[in-house]
Amino acid sequence: RVLVGTKVDETHANWVTAYNMLTGIRVAVSRTNAKLDRPLTDADFDVKQKSTFDIAGNELVPSAKYDFKFKDYAPWVFRHLRTLFRLDPADYLMSLTGKYILSELGSPGKSGSFFYFSRDYKYIIKTIHHAEHKFLRKILKDYYQHVKDNPNTLLSQFYGLHRVKMPYGKKIHFVVMNNLFPPHRDIHQTFDLKGSTVGRDYREDDLENNPRATLKDLNWLRRKRNIELGLQKKQLFLEQLYKDVRLLQRLQIMDYSLLVGIHDLQRGNEENLRDKTLRVFNPGGSGNTSEDFEPHSVLMRTPSKLESQRKARELRQMIQSEKPVPMGQTSSRMPDELEEGQNRPGFIFNQDDGGFRATHEDNSPGEEIYYLGVIDCLTHYGIIKKIEHFWKGLSSDRSQISALPPHEYGERFISFISSMAMSQEEAIRVAQERDAA
Ligand code: ATP
Ligand code: CA
Ligand code: CA
Repeated sequence: RVLVGTKVDETHANWVTAYNMLTGIRVAVSRTNAKLDRPLTDADFDVKQKSTFDIAGNELVPSAKYDFKFKDYAPWVFRHLRTLFRLDPADYLMSLTGKYILSELGSPGKSGSFFYFSRDYKYIIKTIHHAEHKFLRKILKDYYQHVKDNPNTLLSQFYGLHRVKMPYGKKIHFVVMNNLFPPHRDIHQTFDLKGSTVGRDYREDDLENNPRATLKDLNWLRRKRNIELGLQKKQLFLEQLYKDVRLLQRLQIMDYSLLVGIHDLQRGNEENLRDKTLRVFNPGGSGNTSEDFEPHSVLMRTPSKLESQRKARELRQMIQSEKPVPMGQTSSRMPDELEEGQNRPGFIFNQDDGGFRATHEDNSPGEEIYYLGVIDCLTHYGIIKKIEHFWKGLSSDRSQISALPPHEYGERFISFISSMAMSQEEAIRVAQERDAA
């Protein structure tokens, strides 16, 4: 699949950063995966593994194009998380580092995070703030336990937590996570929903320029939309959502949203790749103008076919054997086989073409596939309070910024989503009952 967008070569400002991120991931992940599996210990949650890369390389770290430092956090925990999320280790590394191609969306939201997509769109690298990074490390044990107990969790799936630092550069923290949206399906509408109405509106006028913009709560309500799941699927969805939100409440997290991608089966995949790129590179955040979301790819050096075949062999050997194997040995597995792999098999909310198909109350299938997940779940209440405190010093209009405490945030979130998951019939019944009472 070809990435469309403005191709940027080695002179692009973030080329070196992206290259170093991928090199670090490749070396760190294959180092951990090369060892025999073992159960986790408490100490695994606090591990930081530091590597120094340079042009010369040494027996621990291969030579790299640039000088940089890389830190891999809790590598064994993330190895186990990737197993729980049923990622194939070779597939993971191939998607991210088989070819050094990422697509970048500059800094889209007010948070200042950058998003990069692996070339096959399966994975997202998101740069995160130091506070979010520290917080993820702090809650990692709870998160891990939750994933173990809830294989179908709707929360963002974290596959790795890392840091790169270039000489004289800032420390850049980042996570690798799942792309909720499938590489092979057009998403016709995207909603980022929090259950709040304050400031939760994408200007409908701007939709003309940017038809695939991420819409918000007020746009959802204005469209009188619902997600139609039928009784059984709806119960599965809401029960999982409750459990996930309970965790977020307990960990004092807020500001998360339910990301909803809708594929309309009747429209199918009619749109071209350019649209698809706009769809994928469409994080919400501050602005409403299409320029804010204009994607541009960072096209990194694309190795020749032979080169990538060799790389794939080496990767597989590193992963299968205890020790890294010298280059140039043969393997029966070809990279094309490595690159295949079904889109998230065995998970409830990915059972229908990677998503969850609409179902009517009589159990007949609907014409939409929903792609659902809870994202942006690393904001601790303490951080929000600090920001709010800062703004309150500057402005008297508190209503615009007033953040709900985590418990209330979660309750409001759940009640909004429960009502959006009502079928039309159900909504009418509820309204009639209310009027009768
Ligand atoms: P802010 O804090 O300003 O909301 P942020 O930088 O923390 O922004 P997110 O809220 O995590 O960013 O994501 C912004 C947008 O990026 C989402 O609305 C969604 O469109 C897209 N996005 C984020 N995570 C994913 C994901 N896992 N899969 C698909 N799209 C995603
Ligand atoms: Ca957000
Ligand atoms: Ca955020």
